[in-house]
Amino acid sequence: MRPTRLVHLLTLGLSSALISCSGTTSQAQSADSTDSTIQEQGLTAAPFDADSAYLYTQQQVAFGVRTPNSPGHQATAQWIEEKLRSWGYEVTLQHFEGKDHFGKSAQGTNIIATRTPEGSDHILLMAHWDTRQVADQDPITQRQALAIQGADDGASGVAVLLELARQESLHPSGKALDFVFFDLEDGGQSNDEDSWCLGSQYWAKHPHQSDYKAKWGILLDMVGAQGARFYWEGLSKDYARPLLSSLWQTASQLGWGDYFVQADGSQMTDDHGPVIRQRGIPSVDIINFDPNRATGFGAHWHTSGDTMGVISKETLRAVGETVATTLRGDI
Ligand SMILES: [Zn+2]
Repeated sequence: MRPTRLVHLLTLGLSSALISCSGTTSQAQSADSTDSTIQEQGLTAAPFDADSAYLYTQQQVAFGVRTPNSPGHQATAQWIEEKLRSWGYEVTLQHFEGKDHFGKSAQGTNIIATRTPEGSDHILLMAHWDTRQVADQDPITQRQALAIQGADDGASGVAVLLELARQESLHPSGKALDFVFFDLEDGGQSNDEDSWCLGSQYWAKHPHQSDYKAKWGILLDMVGAQGARFYWEGLSKDYARPLLSSLWQTASQLGWGDYFVQADGSQMTDDHGPVIRQRGIPSVDIINFDPNRATGFGAHWHTSGDTMGVISKETLRAVGETVATTLRGDI
């Protein structure tokens, strides 16, 4: 993923404090005060095992880079599918043709897991499982041509989603949760917005069920790094404000307010874009991006430093508990 508007603003030399995704800075503090359905203090966290999420992150990294057409890519798809099937999910593999970072043809696979109680609104939980072919943000030039390990950028979102799926199989929430693992998200070029998010673009045009609908969507992207900060992403605030409010309030009530900052971030080019714009599913992107950091996403983003060394069990737990608890609330 990449920031949609940040690059432009930085080019203009504006300070990051001026970046407003919605263009309405006066509304910056209002998203947390309306529409929330969780009001009580002292909320109990829904079950989420951060050790398990950490292990799932580690296992993906152990497969090697998960770039298109690589052995690690193939092994990871099979591993995700097997995990989901072992927990009783119906799994659909959606194959599509895309292009890799270098413009070569690549086989993409979206992995979709469902386990649907009848008569309930669907909620779509999303992450991307591929990793980037180039570490083009690496400060060391010789490393920029190498693929990233993607412990945070790729593996962490998948890991939290898998642990949520496992917990759902053990303690059903009563909601119809659908899990989608998008492929070919991270092969884009900075000057070409449509070169990112190929899996979600494909799924939005060809959902696994014709005229698929969901009440809400939640996208997890880079949710495992130590010191992560999740601000209100621009599209999420514009299109899914009630869900955004519930998530950030839940985080605050669980004691994770340092991670979930109630202030504007930036607008991202990420998998929630096609899901919102083409399928009309209001979705929130939980993504580590701090507008006050010089590096925005963090120093490890798209570098050779995106390894298990940056992964924190506490961050995985903060995100996992926040999402799991919100899903059990009245949303
Ligand atoms: Zn990325």
